[in-house]
Amino acid sequence: MKGLVYKGVNDLGVENVPEPHIESSTDAVAKVTLSAICGSDIHIKHGMLPFVKPGTIIGHECCGVIEDVGSDVYYFKKGDRVVASAAFSCGKCFYCRHQQAQLCERGGVFGTFETQGSQAEYVRIPFADNTLAKIPDNLTDEDVLFISDILCTGFHGVAEASVEVGDTVAVFGSGPVGLCAVACAQLFGPSLVIAVDIEDPRLNVAEKLGAIPINASKEDPVARIKELTGGRGADVTIEAAGYEPTLMGCLQSKRRGGRVSILGLFGEPISFPIHQLCFDSFSMSIGLGDFRYMNELIKLIQKGKLDLKPIITHRLPLSEAIRGYEIFERQLEGCIKVLLKP
Ligand code: ZN
Ligand code: ZN
Repeated sequence: MKGLVYKGVNDLGVENVPEPHIESSTDAVAKVTLSAICGSDIHIKHGMLPFVKPGTIIGHECCGVIEDVGSDVYYFKKGDRVVASAAFSCGKCFYCRHQQAQLCERGGVFGTFETQGSQAEYVRIPFADNTLAKIPDNLTDEDVLFISDILCTGFHGVAEASVEVGDTVAVFGSGPVGLCAVACAQLFGPSLVIAVDIEDPRLNVAEKLGAIPINASKEDPVARIKELTGGRGADVTIEAAGYEPTLMGCLQSKRRGGRVSILGLFGEPISFPIHQLCFDSFSMSIGLGDFRYMNELIKLIQKGKLDLKPIITHRLPLSEAIRGYEIFERQLEGCIKVLLKP
């Protein structure tokens, strides 16, 4: 089969690779029908995740059709249409039993080191009963694909910040995760959602998702957020870019006693002004996707309450994945999210 292989730093290729097969009784194997390129795939490409070794098929956001299941898979059978979470988890360890499956002792992320990824024709899915959700007949792959990662991550960021009815929410970063956070924040009845970025095409999508856009290259986002929130600052700020300036923006534009939720993947250490913040009585959370809500989010998509299709800007065959990476990484042609079809 064909798969997108990490061959070394800045060296990816669509190659012939062995087809996966059932390795454990809790596995499934799915024929991939749609996958997406994620920001963390770019980190892999640049060698920023050194535990990803050459020869790894990358990709962790996919939909597919079940081809085969192990003898201990209970909920899924051949022919089921499914979406897989980016991370798999056993459902039995300490963390899984404490609703923190993203920290599963036997878990991992597709396309890193524990298992091969899904930018390929087929993928093996460990702990299939925990890792998969069924796609309802009346939804397309594009409707639900982002459940696999960025939508659950965006929802997690909003849920961790305990957004309440009437809250003001500012999301720094209007990349795929930030836009998902904007869309998920709307589910909680905020009085105002603000999106901060420096790219107008992304801010236009944020606006379509109900946010007030602020272009930080044209105006000071902290001053503007203060102005929009009666001088106090936002009840909740969400960092979805992974850079020091955006985190500082979140810290400076939250209100005293507010909440800050960090979703960005930081590539390097930053300086944190704790000496200026220790009298602020605010709470902060950090951490990536929590896939507990996959099935609930699918129901919200079915009800028309969540639609992330506006972030899809490019659809390419898997054979053109290298071009897709180029477009995604350099944000060419107004790119936000690139889908790959095997
Ligand atoms: Zn991802
Ligand atoms: Zn576990």
